Amino acid sequence: MRLRNIPAAANAIAESEYCVLDYTEHKGEWKNLFGNENPLVMEIGMGKGKFLMELAALHPDINYLGVERYGSVLYRALQKMEEHPLPNIRFLCINAEVLPEIFEEGELDYIYLNFSDPWPKDRHAKRRLTSGEYLKRYDKVLKKGGRLEFKTDNRPLFDFSLEETKAFGWTVNAYTYDLHHDEKMNEGNIMTEYEEKFSSHGNPICKMIISR
Ligand code: SAH
Repeated sequence: MRLRNIPAAANAIAESEYCVLDYTEHKGEWKNLFGNENPLVMEIGMGKGKFLMELAALHPDINYLGVERYGSVLYRALQKMEEHPLPNIRFLCINAEVLPEIFEEGELDYIYLNFSDPWPKDRHAKRRLTSGEYLKRYDKVLKKGGRLEFKTDNRPLFDFSLEETKAFGWTVNAYTYDLHHDEKMNEGNIMTEYEEKFSSHGNPICKMIISR
């Protein structure tokens, strides 16, 4: 997702109480941001934040960090938060590749990836958020036994992701090629913005849950 540059976005991010600007200063102490010991869960590539905000509203006893690299996109999430503030969400406007530098080993309890950019060219495979390069990064910051969920309607990306998962020593706990017709895996499913769009076009949604 990439929106036209919005000049107001940079200011809004700089001034928002929900955006963590000094993200290099919290390694090993991210829970202090929330003032409690609740689990720390992250969505990477959160877009405008629909999924994360619905999830956080349902689970006030879990802390959520939303990562989005484009300020113009994150700005939309900030606008929603101003209307419906949630105490258990903070946003980071960063590229996910820096995660191991700013999080202590095992500091995250759970990671969500939803409709990540496909980077279809082979030479860009390392940029895919489910590539081995990224799995190694998640391996560092995710606690032992911590899980990662990934949804996409892009079958080639999903197949690649399953392969990478196995090649890099992760366990596939569950997966489906048609989430919305898989009663068990679809239970409690929260639709993301892209999920609503693509499933309304008739695309089946793939989902996998993996752990290290
Ligand atoms: N999760 C949302 C948006 C999907 S689009 C939904 O399902 O509706 C993918 C989003 O991931 C885009 O907004 C893009 O900017 C973001 N993104 C892609 N690569 C990223 C990276 N390396 N670090 C942070 N965000 C990234």
